[in-house]
Amino acid sequence: METLYADVILPLALAPLSFEVGPELSTTIVVGSGVSVPLGENKLYTGIVCRLHHNRPPYKRIRTITAIVRSEPLASIGQIALWEWMARYYMCTEGEIMRAALPSLLKPSAANDELFAERVFTLGKEQMLRLSSKIEDEGSLHTALEALLPRRKAQYRTMIQIVEAIGTDRLFDGGATPRSAVNASSVLINKLLEDGLIERFEREYSPLYDIAALRRAATLTPLQSEALAKVRESLSRNRTTLLHGITASGKTELYIHLAAEILSQGGSVLYLIPELAITEQLIERLRSAFGNGLSIYHSKMTPRARTEMYIKLSRSEGGEIVVGTRSAILLPLNNLRLIIVDEEHDRSFKQEDPAPRFSARDVAVWMAHNLGCATLLGSATPSLESFYNAYTGRYGYVWLGERYGEARLPQVVISDTIKSAKRGERKGHINKELADAIRTALADHRQVILFQNRRGFAPYVECPSCGWTPRCPHCGVTLTYYKKGNRLRCNLCGHAEDSPHRCPACHEGELLPQGFGTEKIEESVAELFPEARVARLDGDIASSATRLRATIHQFESGETDILVGTQMITKGFDFSGVAVVGVLNADNLLSRPDFRAEERTFQTLVQITGRAGRADSNGVTVIQTSQPESYTIIQAAKSDYLSMAKCQLRDREAFGYPPFTRLISLTLRDGSAELVYRGARELAARLRELIGSGVTDAHAPAVSHVADTYIMQIMVRIERSDSPSDIKGLIRSAVGEFGRNKLYRRISVTINVDPQ
Ligand code: ADP
Ligand code: ZN
Ligand code: ZN
Repeated sequence: METLYADVILPLALAPLSFEVGPELSTTIVVGSGVSVPLGENKLYTGIVCRLHHNRPPYKRIRTITAIVRSEPLASIGQIALWEWMARYYMCTEGEIMRAALPSLLKPSAANDELFAERVFTLGKEQMLRLSSKIEDEGSLHTALEALLPRRKAQYRTMIQIVEAIGTDRLFDGGATPRSAVNASSVLINKLLEDGLIERFEREYSPLYDIAALRRAATLTPLQSEALAKVRESLSRNRTTLLHGITASGKTELYIHLAAEILSQGGSVLYLIPELAITEQLIERLRSAFGNGLSIYHSKMTPRARTEMYIKLSRSEGGEIVVGTRSAILLPLNNLRLIIVDEEHDRSFKQEDPAPRFSARDVAVWMAHNLGCATLLGSATPSLESFYNAYTGRYGYVWLGERYGEARLPQVVISDTIKSAKRGERKGHINKELADAIRTALADHRQVILFQNRRGFAPYVECPSCGWTPRCPHCGVTLTYYKKGNRLRCNLCGHAEDSPHRCPACHEGELLPQGFGTEKIEESVAELFPEARVARLDGDIASSATRLRATIHQFESGETDILVGTQMITKGFDFSGVAVVGVLNADNLLSRPDFRAEERTFQTLVQITGRAGRADSNGVTVIQTSQPESYTIIQAAKSDYLSMAKCQLRDREAFGYPPFTRLISLTLRDGSAELVYRGARELAARLRELIGSGVTDAHAPAVSHVADTYIMQIMVRIERSDSPSDIKGLIRSAVGEFGRNKLYRRISVTINVDPQ
């Protein structure tokens, strides 16, 4: 018999290592098996088998796998293929991908620890509820409900909940719901049990315990149906398709219909959403469409819940629908037929830290072409990369250009802040145009959203006599002034201090707030419109989940009239009461030092504009700016995506930026400014020797000093005529060399492929 070898992915920054498979394991081991292996003197590691073969590895001493630690494979062959591609493409190790993919309780580790053993994962039993066999049709159900209604309202409501959770299609032939899906006290459940209305039983956590089936979906309009047919056709031909539909055109309805079709054929669906503070509305909508079959995967899940979901999914044969943020792309979904990437332009699909620095959107596209699923990218403001891919025919493209129902895109007014100030028409950072619109909306009992992308009261304070500005002692940025508590705070590292009254530099001037943030807008709006109820929604509020929910709920139910917020309110908000949206200062969107600044400004403005008039034709958006002649602002005001794309793509091509080239950034960090500066220059020089002119000089990024760490960057540009894998190989060897250099060993170097 030929000797069998296994390549094993270990939770280390190493390529997979090879081990011999003893004859006693050779019949049970498979790709994806969790195994323990000896490493070093007497250490045991756990890892996952990624390849089985008969080629003797070129090591002197080949060690043997100690044991298979779980009988079920931990990853499928498709997942392993994905991990290997991701490691190559994103220049990290398979171990790093594995660490991101597996829930912590299943994570291989150093030492053959107990956690990895089988018994921990025998999933518990699950309590289930179904209607009692006494209730055998609609008639007897109604009789039972009517008997409860007069005096036992709480029981009545619980009963209704159970009926809804089970769903009408299997209600009278044994259909059941997990107890956990019913939000009622055990007292209430016990009463229903005593009355013989329901029955309780236990069952093993099993895959497909609740097949997701479509329960509720809107009837599509003719235009939407036509778009859906095109999407369906395009997905079967191109695999990846871009659905470009304006805000409130019904993209989400299309996703629901498409997902339901796949589910009814037994396929699984992955629905990726950006990391938004505000997702409840969307989740509610998907839940009412798919019931308890909808799995929700997010970063705040407990390790136990994550592990259970991972195992449940890996045992399932299909028919699953999971909605989740970027890391859900790594879940073990069998028979995965469709990936939806909602708001595909959103930068939160890219993980920046820690490794793997992957883009879930781009991974989804790879999966469509290599693992046989279809990927639908959707947005009102597609990324230029996706748009260009659609334009050149690599992706299919479907356009949905009308809002649903009576809704129309709002009227957009560009309001010149400089002119307005000269005419004396600007009060509390609000020009007359915006103030008038707000006044009209309030008189009509409609709502207003005001957008300012800076938190706090003022972005900085300054001494009027000497110009001194307090800066964070740990970072290279100015401190933000908060009027509440008279504090200065660093938005990067959290450092906070009392704001000095008198300037500590010249001991002359009194420090004055400069510029304006959400806290200040909230204050001046309350002064200008004393009759209005004003609330604020920004990162400071959202740090408490309860306050966040309360603020949204109050706005939704009309208890507040004006909501002042940051970026957070630009997406996912679907409130029909909003008549006016105001952008207080579009300038600071445009002035970011980034080649994507114009594209992002356009996206943000169009998304904010999209919050107005979602249910009628009376929406107004006012964009305040000192650059009313800016192309991007004019294009955004007209929602003219094509002009923006043409303009920006022309610039990107002329200056050699994506999508015409690819970028890889190298970031060096160390506590010594001098060392990191010297190291970065030397590494850049070496890279240029190897790769040529596509390597920039080492440079400090806009924020070059964070939490006492100094940062330098090098950018490598890959032309379309170059081979990306060759260049990645050269970068890897230069960085390896650099890491072995005694002088620079302590500098941390991170590589980011396709930085956002
Ligand atoms: P998008 O995802 O493109 O922003 P949505 O799917 O959120 O658009 O649709 C906007 C609003 O219009 C939502 O409140 C949605 O429920 C409603 N809507 C869209 N299409 C339909 C339809 N065919 N029937 C009923 N309501 C619809
Ligand atoms: Zn001073
Ligand atoms: Zn700081």
